[in-house]
Parts: sequence; C-alpha cells; structure tokens
Amino acid sequence: MAGEPQADCLFCKIVAGDVPATVVRETDSVVAFRDINPQAPSHVLVIPKAHYPDAASLAAAEPALAAEVLREAGEVAALERTVDPGYRIVFNTGSGAGQTVFHAHAHILGGRGLAWPPG
Ligand code: 5GP
Ligand code: ZN
Repeated sequence: MAGEPQADCLFCKIVAGDVPATVVRETDSVVAFRDINPQAPSHVLVIPKAHYPDAASLAAAEPALAAEVLREAGEVAALERTVDPGYRIVFNTGSGAGQTVFHAHAHILGGRGLAWPPG
C-alpha cells in the first residue's frame, strides 16, 4: 500500500529507529536529521515518515504531507540560523540527478555561500 514502510529502505529504518541518526526535529509525520556526509556546514534531511520514492509521488499521493515537509524545512533553517543570508531546499529526483535513497527527502543546505547553478 502507498506510504507503507519498505523493508529494504534506509530512511524507513531511520524512521523505525533501526538505523541511528542525529535527529534535529520530529513531528508525528516527518523527521529531520543530519546528513551523514554533509555538503555544507548545515546539511539536514527532512523526510516524511511514510514511504514514497520521491517528492513528486509524495505530493501526488499526500499533498498535505508534502507541505509539511516544506514547512519543516523552514523550521530547520530557523533552528540552524540559515534563514539569513539564505539556504537551499533540494529534492534530487532520479539517479541521473543524484538521488541515491529512494524515500522522498528534502536536503536543507546552508551556512556557506551557495552559487547557482551548482555545476
Ligand atoms: P540523495 O543522494 O538520495 O539525494 O540523498 C541521500 C542522502 O542521504 C545523501 O546526502 C547521503 O549522504 C545521506 N545518507 C546516506 N546514508 C545515510 C545514513 O545512514 N544516515 C544519514 N544521516 N544520512 C545518510
Ligand atoms: Zn522508505
């Protein structure tokens, strides 16, 4: 069923507590934790607890949950004090775009200058 935990999914294991993570925020429906291989001084991942393979499929199936992920991204930026001068929210979608974990997640990157485009 859509949204159900997947046995072979790393982020479902983090949600279940079977894989440890440094959690910075958690609600009933989402969890935010530090990326294990940070690409910026502040690099936090925000995920829905429900399993969807990418952001678009999450938004199509559960738009309110997708909105909650975005809202939490803003809360993380406030917590990390990256709102000013700015931060980036990234959803890598598809292996060609760098997606390696197929459980929807937002990268919240901040704490350094972020050039655009990233290259
Ligand atoms: P993607 O490449 O799919 O957009 O992002 C997956 C992210 O998950 C990567 O930035 C990677 O560093 C991070 N990651 C992979 N394995 C783990 C883990 O076990 N714990 C944490 N906290 N992050 C992980
Ligand atoms: Zn999952």
